[in-house]
Amino acid sequence: MFQNLISAANDLGWSLALVAAVAIFGLIGVVAYRRVRLQKLCLDTAVGNMSQGLTMFDKSGTLVLCNQRYIEMYGLSSDVIKPGCTVNDVVEHRIATGSLTLLEARGYVNDRQTTLTQGKIVTKDFKLPNGREIVVTRRPVQGGGWVATHEDMTERRRAEAQIAHMAYHDALTGLGNRVLLRRQLEAALLRVQQGERIAVLYLDLDNFKTLNDSLGHSGGDALLKAVAERLRGCLKQTDTIARMGGDEFAILHTALEQLTDAEYLARRLRAAVRMPLDIDGQQMTADVSIGISLAPNDGTDASQLLKQADMAMYVAKCDGRGTFRYFEPDMNARALARRTLELDLRNAITNDEFELYYQPIVNLERNEVSGCEALLRWHHPQRGMVMPDEFIPVAEETGLIVEIGEGVLRKACAAAATWPNNVTVAVNVSSAQFKNQALVLKVVGALAASRLSARRLAIEVTETALILDNEATLATLHQLRGLGVQIAMDDFGTGYSSLSYLRSFPFDKIKIDRSFINDISATGNAGAIVQATISMAAGMNMTTTAEGVETREQLEKIRALGCTEMQGYLFSRPLCGDDLARLLRTRLNQAIRAA
Ligand code: C2E
Ligand code: CA
Ligand code: CA
Repeated sequence: MFQNLISAANDLGWSLALVAAVAIFGLIGVVAYRRVRLQKLCLDTAVGNMSQGLTMFDKSGTLVLCNQRYIEMYGLSSDVIKPGCTVNDVVEHRIATGSLTLLEARGYVNDRQTTLTQGKIVTKDFKLPNGREIVVTRRPVQGGGWVATHEDMTERRRAEAQIAHMAYHDALTGLGNRVLLRRQLEAALLRVQQGERIAVLYLDLDNFKTLNDSLGHSGGDALLKAVAERLRGCLKQTDTIARMGGDEFAILHTALEQLTDAEYLARRLRAAVRMPLDIDGQQMTADVSIGISLAPNDGTDASQLLKQADMAMYVAKCDGRGTFRYFEPDMNARALARRTLELDLRNAITNDEFELYYQPIVNLERNEVSGCEALLRWHHPQRGMVMPDEFIPVAEETGLIVEIGEGVLRKACAAAATWPNNVTVAVNVSSAQFKNQALVLKVVGALAASRLSARRLAIEVTETALILDNEATLATLHQLRGLGVQIAMDDFGTGYSSLSYLRSFPFDKIKIDRSFINDISATGNAGAIVQATISMAAGMNMTTTAEGVETREQLEKIRALGCTEMQGYLFSRPLCGDDLARLLRTRLNQAIRAA
């Protein structure tokens, strides 16, 4: 450019060249100034909008730059902290306003030294008195001095912690999940090699499906939470509990002193679950079945131990629920058999493999068939005929009984509609069906479809139906009674509190369990119990049926005691529909002839 100016001077003369030079330099200056201002504006905007706090000090420790975020983060005064103040002013002000302790200030000075003398980046975590977590990073800058960024990590750390928690915990109950249990179990198994003994307990709530149906979704969740809380309360600090899904839980019980420790824990867990519960104002009780496997006794592989405990739980369920079982090697086969049964049962519904048999009930005063009890039979394509005791418990546990029971109601009513007018039909209804709100509607539907009069239908209930949820069941019973349906208490005397339930609902009939009839001739007190039941029922205007009458002697005994009806092999076994129709016809003909 100077070359050009000199040649221009030669052309235009020196004075003009000078004016031109000043003008050109001035223009360059203006352009440069504008560029710098623009750059500063950009920088200010960037610094002012940073999510981090930013400070920059020169090598003498004077503040060159700091942004608004920094001032806000520590609650400082921008009158004190501004470019030109020293690092000591900053430290003093921060101590005075409470965002830095004396101890931290000392560390701060050391870090600054490290940055300045060794040119190193130093990162430090701070926790402010208000709980916020700040990460400060100090970097040296060229020509001395340093720049520091202050980042508020509180939200991020919280989110990270939450994600980590979610990966190992169940969202509903706050208990651990499968992943956590497995991890803890694997860690515990390493200690087993050093001689520690541990137990895995697998828990499954009894009748949860039924309870869930009656409570609704949110009630079901509340129940699970309440149970989870109780289970957790039974454990020691080193134990782990996880929700394995649905109503299943698993517990890792560590450092057993004796093998029976696992059993004690199982009993405690059951007792805790069985305490009365209040869910959304509804009183109820829950119970749980528990399976136990032990390490090293049953093995030292995590998957295997969990599977064994699960199987033992399955067996506990089949053995009547509300109990616990230790794993035994032959359970493999039993658990498999049960699962197969469950699958077959689902197919049976689709293929309608069920048939109803009917067992006549005889009125002892009139000596005639007054009713028939509908008893379910399952024609399995391979197994042949399967009896209800084998499959009803599985149907109840899986909830399939609701669908099966609906079919029973329809078929039983349809069959009864073809019988003589004075013959009733009795249908067994499981507790699981009572939990399903639609029971009354289904009864109405079955009666309407068959055009059977409601008074010719009797519903047989066992004590378990009443135990589960007294209030709701009683309400349903009253509704059924309102329709004109008869209500019978089945298997009387086998439960714990048959008597108290008799007081809670005006049953039409009591069916005395066949175990009493079986023993009636023996020297024990069965006879006295039957007698007491009959006279009590008479006092409460209920009729009585003796179940399982097999001998003449038993028949004479119950007749002498004043029993209203009898049912049993002595008169007839349960019959298929055609055989029963034939029996009813001959009886009718005999009666007509006798008349
Ligand atoms: P339950 O209600 O006590 O039915 C009477 C059972 O006693 C029937 O067994 C019947 O065959 C048997 N029985 C009748 N008379 C005699 C006798 O003189 N001696 C002996 N030893 N037994 C006699 P079944 O048909 O095997 O039914 C067993 C149980 O299965 C029933 O007991 C009932 O609780 C349940 N069940 C049957 N059908 C249904 C159903 O449709 N729904 C529901 N929920 N349960 C059912
Ligand atoms: Ca029955
Ligand atoms: Ca019975």
